[in-house]
Amino acid sequence: MFILILGPPGSGKGTQGQLLAQRLGVPKIATGEILREAVRTGSRLGREAQRYMDKGALVPDTVILDLIKAELGKPGAQEGALLDGFPRTQAQAELVDKLLGERGQRLNHVLLLDVPEDELVRRLRGRAGIEGRSDDTPEAIGARLRTYQRDTAPLVAHYAQRGVVHRVPGTGSVEDIAEEIKRLIGR
Ligand code: ADP
Repeated sequence: MFILILGPPGSGKGTQGQLLAQRLGVPKIATGEILREAVRTGSRLGREAQRYMDKGALVPDTVILDLIKAELGKPGAQEGALLDGFPRTQAQAELVDKLLGERGQRLNHVLLLDVPEDELVRRLRGRAGIEGRSDDTPEAIGARLRTYQRDTAPLVAHYAQRGVVHRVPGTGSVEDIAEEIKRLIGR
């Protein structure tokens, strides 16, 4: 089972993605986490990605498409995975469709976490001091929200045509949201 968890920064994708992946026993693939780890270790990928991430811009598809290919090609990701933070652009979505399609697979569910913008800003600013992410500055937060609306939100239409999109209210307790996701995907 392949599930995409989609939503703006601060919508709780990481938290719910972690819980759901654990429950279903599939690996969670989070491009943001992979990139942050690459920045920490100072790898070539990290050095390339950092300047985009710090500004709240997307890392270019030329870099991300290879990353997606590598991640979905891993032995652990052959039967299922929870996709967190990608696809984020039309080109990434097309690549995921193609890679899964070649294996006779597809995205079974797209969960769209819905949180009002003022709540997103509150959450992101609140966690800025705690997690110390270099893209939680007020400028980068604004840029990430705009980038999401411009590049990623249009993917909802791409998947809605296939009838796999479930809109999940992303406000409320972590447990309630997890319960709602369980109900929506039927397992
Ligand atoms: P958030 O959704 O809170 O912004 P992520 O951890 O998903 O957090 O992403 C952090 C940053 O990593 C993004 O702003 C972007 O620069 C980069 N990034 C992560 N995933 C992708 C992707 N699929 N394509 C391009 N850039 C990405």
